[in-house]
Amino acid sequence: MTKPVFRFAPSPNGRLHLGHAYSALLNADFAQRFDGRLLLRIEDIDTTRCRPEFEEAIYKDLAWLGLAWEEPVRRQSEHFDDYHAAFRALKGRGVVYPCFCSRKEIAEAVACREAEAKTGAAQPWPRDPDGASLYPGTCRDLSAGEIEQRIAAGEPHAWRLDGAALHELLPGPHGYCRFDRDGREEEVAADPWRWGDAVIVRKDTPTSYHLSVVVDDALQGVTHVVRGQDLEAATDLHILLQALLGLPTPLYHHHGLVLDPEGDKLAKSRQSQALAELREAGATPQSIRQRLGF
Ligand code: GLU
Repeated sequence: MTKPVFRFAPSPNGRLHLGHAYSALLNADFAQRFDGRLLLRIEDIDTTRCRPEFEEAIYKDLAWLGLAWEEPVRRQSEHFDDYHAAFRALKGRGVVYPCFCSRKEIAEAVACREAEAKTGAAQPWPRDPDGASLYPGTCRDLSAGEIEQRIAAGEPHAWRLDGAALHELLPGPHGYCRFDRDGREEEVAADPWRWGDAVIVRKDTPTSYHLSVVVDDALQGVTHVVRGQDLEAATDLHILLQALLGLPTPLYHHHGLVLDPEGDKLAKSRQSQALAELREAGATPQSIRQRLGF
């Protein structure tokens, strides 16, 4: 029988904190208990925010925690061709369209709709699970001629999933299987439509988190995805992409997040205390494990 495959997939855009340590240790714990393999993947598609020194620090922090992973480590920035091939497949299925809108244009279009809502003319504008306004569809119906012309002129653009086309192609119901700490599996319903016309290829990098993660999990044979609850809603979109691309759907476990004393999620952007700082302040791998309940 083939072994279960787990992965820890940090982004080297800051230093790892206790939340990352928890996720990494939980993956390792599952891999050990399920007689599985543990992979490490560096999610560095954002070439402006990711830095080599943060990547080096990831290896150092994880090794310090006592974790071992298989080599070679997959670095997403070395695989843009794979993501492009997946994008071409989506394009071939007619489920993506280019979007030339700037953030400002989207915000203005949404503000217009929201102003209408205040006068009772329309419903409040919906938001995606990350709190961003759903795309108002400005570029959804551009003519083929206009698209060709704007792309030929070098106008920067993202590519979005066409929710309406997808609704027809894959009406659902959608769902996937999740597993708990003891390996018990359970079907859960998914609602990919709450993401609206999600960006699948960004303007600033030739892929997106959603596309790369789905392609890599499949290419690396990942069978069990263990990641934080903050990514639970994204799974709804990932299973839709897997169906579109003919990729297998792994089993999922979304773990609780490590919170700071104020009850907020730890985040690089909030300057949460890094593992390296805890180490310098005298923490040991054992004390970290204990603190995190391992
Ligand atoms: N790279 C993502 C992060 O650092 C995790 C992706 C995943 O586990 O699917 O939050």
